[in-house]
Amino acid sequence: MANCIFCKIIAGEIPAVKIYEDDLVLAFLDIGPINFGHTLVIPKEHHESSATIPEATAGRMFHIGARIGVALRREFDWDAFNLHLADGAAAGQVVMHAHLHVVPRGVEDGFHWNWRQKQYGDGEAAALAERLTKRLATALEREPEA
Ligand code: 5GP
Ligand code: ZN
Repeated sequence: MANCIFCKIIAGEIPAVKIYEDDLVLAFLDIGPINFGHTLVIPKEHHESSATIPEATAGRMFHIGARIGVALRREFDWDAFNLHLADGAAAGQVVMHAHLHVVPRGVEDGFHWNWRQKQYGDGEAAALAERLTKRLATALEREPEA
């Protein structure tokens, strides 16, 4: 897609430090890493949302992302890794070509997700689950939509 930075990287019009490439996905180093080795795995086809990526490609993204995480851990002695995907601006997506972050993590790397924990009231979780389950069932019968 025109004016998409990541499509330009795929096309070779913008340089990137490539880590892995096959027919479906490309992995390259993030230009502003949380930790060194922070890698992005992207579908070669332009998709803004993760929800429209075909299952085979989405599966490959996750598989390759996890394998890169393990390779980072083994080669550079990281303790762990995060797989992270921001879908939509409100979720923190800045580049509108879907991408999976592979972030190598160390016990004392000083980075925190600042996870907050809300609490469901009585019956709220069950009521939410009923609505979500119905909506998902309907959605899965149709073509994916963002
Ligand atoms: P988002 O916030 O959309 O999940 O993450 C976008 C990521 O893409 C950021 O971590 C940013 O550092 C990275 N990024 C943005 N532009 C470029 C670029 O031109 N080259 C590379 N390698 N990474 C980029
Ligand atoms: Zn794109």
